[in-house]
Amino acid sequence: MSDDCIFCSIVDGEIPARTVYETDEVLAFLDANPLARGHTLVIPKTHAERVGDLDADAASALFDAVSDLTSRVQDAVDADAANVGINDGEAAGQEVPHVHAHVVPRFEGDGGAPIHAVAGKRPDLSDDELDGIAEEVAAAIDV
Ligand code: AMP
Ligand code: ZN
Repeated sequence: MSDDCIFCSIVDGEIPARTVYETDEVLAFLDANPLARGHTLVIPKTHAERVGDLDADAASALFDAVSDLTSRVQDAVDADAANVGINDGEAAGQEVPHVHAHVVPRFEGDGGAPIHAVAGKRPDLSDDELDGIAEEVAAAIDV
C-alpha cells in the first residue's frame, strides 16, 4: 500500500471500482474513462510503480491474469480483438504510478490503431546500428 495511490485505495476498498476479477495477488476492474466498451485494467495488489519494480511472484500473477482475462473480456463485449499494453513510466504516458495492464477490446472498423502507433517518429537505423543496439541490450539483460 502506498499513501496517495489511487489504485492502492481501490485495492483497499476506499475508492469504488467496477471489479471484474480478483485473486489474492491481482485485481481487475473497468477503466473509469474507457477507450472502448470493456476496457479493463489489471493490477497487482501490492504497490509497484514500474514493471521492473515487480517481484517475480507479482509479475507472473499479473501476466497470468492478463493472459486469462483478455479473451474473456473480449468475448463479454463481443469484440473482435484486443490490445494489451502497459504504459511503463511517465514518458510512455503512465499517469497512475501503480503498474496496470490495459486490456482494450477492439472492434472491426472501430477506427483505432495498432500498438505500433504509440511511439514517436520511427528511427531510421542501419544494420550496423541495429547490431550495436542488440549488443547493448543483450549486455544490459545479461547481468
Ligand atoms: P495510464 O495512463 O496508463 O496510467 O492509465 C491510467 C488509467 O487509469 C486511465 O485509463 C484512467 O482512465 C484510469 N483510471 C484513473 N482513475 C481510475 C479509477 N478511479 N477507476 C478506474 N480507472 C481509473
Ligand atoms: Zn499503489
